[in-house]
Amino acid sequence: MKIFKFGGASLKNAQGIENVASLLKNHSQDKLLVVVSAMGKTTNALEKIVDLGLEKKDFKSELEDIKSYHHQALQNLELVDPSVQKLIDDVIEKITSEASKTGDFDQVYDQVVSQGEILSSLILCAYLQSIAIPVAWVDARTIVATDESYREGKVDWGKTRQAAQPLKSILEKKIIITQGFIGATSSGRTTTLGREGSDYSAAIFASCLGAQSVTIWKDVPGVMSADPKRLPNAVVFEELPYQEAAEMTYYGASVIHPKTIKPLANSKIPLLVKNFDDPSLPGTHIHECKVDRLPPLIVFKDNQCLISCKVTDYTFVNERQIELIFQALMNHDIHINVMQNSAISFSICVDFRDHKILKLIQELSKHFEVYYNTGLTLITIKNYDAASFREYRNKAGVILEQSSRSTLQVLVKS
Ligand code: ASP
Ligand code: MG
Repeated sequence: MKIFKFGGASLKNAQGIENVASLLKNHSQDKLLVVVSAMGKTTNALEKIVDLGLEKKDFKSELEDIKSYHHQALQNLELVDPSVQKLIDDVIEKITSEASKTGDFDQVYDQVVSQGEILSSLILCAYLQSIAIPVAWVDARTIVATDESYREGKVDWGKTRQAAQPLKSILEKKIIITQGFIGATSSGRTTTLGREGSDYSAAIFASCLGAQSVTIWKDVPGVMSADPKRLPNAVVFEELPYQEAAEMTYYGASVIHPKTIKPLANSKIPLLVKNFDDPSLPGTHIHECKVDRLPPLIVFKDNQCLISCKVTDYTFVNERQIELIFQALMNHDIHINVMQNSAISFSICVDFRDHKILKLIQELSKHFEVYYNTGLTLITIKNYDAASFREYRNKAGVILEQSSRSTLQVLVKS
């Protein structure tokens, strides 16, 4: 049994959905569970609605856009059956009612934003039925059990594994279509697993069902040594060890969600990253393997902020002061991308998220003289060679650099 995952870019319109269908047809000999993301940029549009709803502002026109976008797909797929149209309209109504509620932002967020995946999975399922492919729609919230950490649901593996078992008999006869990104608490409230979390969902299903492999279908030819939009000479990795792939995601390579690798590596389930537009391309095979010499991998992380905490009283930075900094980071749930110390200052590089960072700086200012720069880019060169090491160290605008035997990181003014 195999897991296929299709992202929003693959499902952005009727043509994408038809393309998914023909891919599935070509795999009719496999037992398949298909995990989908929301269509196109629907998740962003739903986030906008949550913001407007909580500010008590009107979101009718934004919601109308989402509605007509999905109806347009139905029309182009010639899905004219009123019962299918009603499925979509019911979800739109659900969005209206949930987004009008007041209360905890994160809870409201999950109830609303999760609907994007419900919409895309309903449409894909209806289309496959219309062309006589035997499918079953499964609500992922009845399988993926999480705690109550809204927007960042932590999976209850025991419960999820148990809930997934009945899917095996369905898979004997039908392709299962389900949603990425979403789960539910034990009281039945919807949770989400973090932005771009559908890859992780695919890994959850794979692990719980003992899948033979997971294939993530993307709009790129595989995992590449850099973002080809930034570095046109980027190359595709044929194969990668799990560890290497996991570390890449840590440094910010956005091709796979960071949580995806661990459950797959633990169960030794291979992950294939394949090109949606040209399935004949080999793509990237992530599995247990040894690769002798990988080309340098270059990851750009924009929107970074460098915060330097300087001690003010002619003492040196000591562990007590570092503890204060780490405590403040934990208090605000902020993750460090790079850190560095000198005699009198300790610097951290973090993602710049306005209000969070400004609060952190306020707290740090109670103990230190704090300086910060925003609008920076952190460039990580993993498995550097002499040429790439030279090139990036000597880049204009470097304000911090750090290297180990395999990895160079430079923080530059964008
Ligand atoms: N639709 C969600 C998002 O855009 C989940 C995903 O795409 O993986 O974040
Ligand atoms: Mg997405």
